[in-house]
Amino acid sequence: MTQRIGIAGIAGRMGRLLAEEVRAAAAELAGGIGRPGSDKPLPAGTAQFPDIAALAAAADVVLDFTLAAAARPHAAALAGAGTAWVLGTSGLSAADEQAVADAARRIPVVYAANFSAGMTLVLALAARMGAALPADAYDAEIVEMHHRHKIDAPSGAAIAIGRAVAQGRGVALDEVMESGRHGHTGARKPGAIGFAALRGGQVVGEHTLIFAADAEHIALTHRVFDRRSFAVGAVRAAQWVVGRPAGLYSMADVLGIGRAGSEPA
Ligand code: NAD
Repeated sequence: MTQRIGIAGIAGRMGRLLAEEVRAAAAELAGGIGRPGSDKPLPAGTAQFPDIAALAAAADVVLDFTLAAAARPHAAALAGAGTAWVLGTSGLSAADEQAVADAARRIPVVYAANFSAGMTLVLALAARMGAALPADAYDAEIVEMHHRHKIDAPSGAAIAIGRAVAQGRGVALDEVMESGRHGHTGARKPGAIGFAALRGGQVVGEHTLIFAADAEHIALTHRVFDRRSFAVGAVRAAQWVVGRPAGLYSMADVLGIGRAGSEPA
């Protein structure tokens, strides 16, 4: 059966690429929606729906790369319609993520901070490194850089890496996160997981996870040169998720490499 795939945010940077990749995957592009009131043109030849409810009714799965503010209304509309959801939007609050988890009790949802295959593997490795390297000896720091247009920090993928390390260490990220240090911060807290966010130019996405001990450093770097790596992964997730039982899935589930444990449960 050919899946009917809808795209929320179809006029955006990711939305346009997603439309191309849906067509390349020989799936059916049901159409899309832009921001309400926006006059940004949709990619040529795509059907425009008036709102998320109408898109959900016409699609088996909706790819959603929009704004965090859209997460809760989209969760309600997709759960109401019984339409699967592939969610890539970053910057979600704890309440937004709760709405995603609630929707996942009724529909299958793939929620990932980064849909590239490489980052999915980095998340799995980060959890293993977190478990293997004692937190009091190996200081974990995450450095990320993105293009000047990005509106949230640290990036969703950086937070996912931090969650994976925290999970490996058996702690909650919220309790150990140190982000955006400035001024007289005092000495580094033992067991902290640090974050630094750089912004500039056209950088699609760079993340480095560093474990710094007294006598050695280990660094794991992932660089994305083309957003298409996200789009290819997201379309793969859309094709995988249709027909699955309701639940919250990660890209590790889609790629069959075991749960990275870094997506919100
Ligand atoms: P963008 O600003 O180019 O595109 C977002 C689009 O969504 C815009 O066209 C906007 O008009 C539209 N939009 C906003 N609110 C909407 C709503 N309520 N309904 C429908 N459309 C709406 O941004 P982008 O670079 O395409 O990124 C979009 C989101 O995806 C960001 O949160 C970004 O961080 C995230 N992202 C995630 C991944 C990943 O792999 N998970 C990869 C890249 C980007």
